Amino acid sequence: MLAAPRSVFMEITRRDFGAVFEGEGLNDSEAPLGGIYERSDGLALFAVTLGRAVSRQITDLFDSHEYAAGAMLDSTASESAELAATSVERTFVSGLDAGFEASMSFSPGYCGWHISAQKKLFETLQPVDIGITLTDTFLMQPLKSISGVIVAGRKEIFIFDDNFEFCSTCRTRTCRDRMNAIKKQV
Ligand code: SF4
Repeated sequence: MLAAPRSVFMEITRRDFGAVFEGEGLNDSEAPLGGIYERSDGLALFAVTLGRAVSRQITDLFDSHEYAAGAMLDSTASESAELAATSVERTFVSGLDAGFEASMSFSPGYCGWHISAQKKLFETLQPVDIGITLTDTFLMQPLKSISGVIVAGRKEIFIFDDNFEFCSTCRTRTCRDRMNAIKKQV
């Protein structure tokens, strides 16, 4: 059993999250999260990790040129981390008072939210308690970890056009699937 999943989340006010979002002042001025969190009904910082053993095993497989096995484990571990983050999101929103319609999570390093915001996020949430640390370049260790903010609110706040300047280099366009999922929610 390689994975040792752990998670942490904490509710945060819009005002306090404003400082986390602002981070080191390097966000893109168009980052959609800026307008989304300001209209939210609930916010929580979160972090999940699968632990060090999985990441070590992936590195070992690649180091020993077992590329297929390494790639398979890498992709499975990424999916598992995403599922763990989704589970934390569900746990947080299930504890909220009624009044919000949908939720979405965002992570530093994506969609105009500069990765250096990890610094303030880590200072506030302290994911070191579940074994996640931050490098000087704001990358998390262990690698198979996800951190960010869960936003709960009315559906309309999560709908935006994905035509910002920084979208031109986006290969995944995951926001489209996430927005479609929210539109389908009853
Ligand atoms: S297209 Fe990519 S970068 Fe732009 S908002 Fe969507 S997920 Fe983010």
